[in-house]
Amino acid sequence: MDPLQLKKDLQARGADLGANLVGVADLTRDQAWIQEYYGEFCASFPRAVSVAIFFPKQIIQEQADGPTRSYSYFYAAINRQLDTIGFSLSNLLQQQGFRSYPVPTSDYRQTQPATGLQDRIARSGTAGLPKTETELMGMFSHRFAASHAGLGWIGKSCHLINPSVGPRLRLTTVLTDAPLPPDSPIANRCGNCTRCADACPVHAIRGVNFSPADPPEKRIDKVLCNRFLDEIASVFGQHTCAKCLAACPWGQK
Ligand code: SF4
Ligand code: SF4
Repeated sequence: MDPLQLKKDLQARGADLGANLVGVADLTRDQAWIQEYYGEFCASFPRAVSVAIFFPKQIIQEQADGPTRSYSYFYAAINRQLDTIGFSLSNLLQQQGFRSYPVPTSDYRQTQPATGLQDRIARSGTAGLPKTETELMGMFSHRFAASHAGLGWIGKSCHLINPSVGPRLRLTTVLTDAPLPPDSPIANRCGNCTRCADACPVHAIRGVNFSPADPPEKRIDKVLCNRFLDEIASVFGQHTCAKCLAACPWGQK
């Protein structure tokens, strides 16, 4: 099948299944970085299909006043819908004779906490697991794929910021070797804004603009953020905050 037609078919199927955005990222220029962070398997794919579903904005805006169960509920519901889209697009690529891998949607907080897992692995004598299996990170960055596919830019909050809805969306990714025509990334529009950093109760966001050369720790202290989520969970029963999502002016209205 013609690669452009295949891309259109992927976008049409994604839309039929509830996706708001479907783009294609060219990963070839970043293969060394991908290999370093995510390993040889992920680096073997030259393209990523990036899929976004928008959150209802009001559910995010409620987070400005504190956590809600609606947010946690739809966070999980949207993730499951994204997984359904991911494996459907992966199957379509496979039927056309291409390698494809649907990256699980990121919701590690709902599984076993990874904090301290490295210590337990070291004690058990089974060192050597890839860090994607043991640290607070997914097997591949959905935000990286989405930013390269033109769905938005990586903001100071480390979230993917889309011009229409800001960070009020969730993402999934299908890695593939299909020679799909890639989309173009869009420029970072955070400018001098610091609203996400100002809204963070524990000052985890440092207010630094995204640069591909910088590690995420330069922009956000994930330990501080996760400790705060643990504190919320101890009184609310769920790891949830998202004040930085509610604060972003892009697509707020
Ligand atoms: S989720 Fe909450 S604690 Fe974490 S960075 Fe955003 S505002 Fe800060
Ligand atoms: S709140 Fe401002 S600085 Fe933070 S991600 Fe949104 S636009 Fe960028």
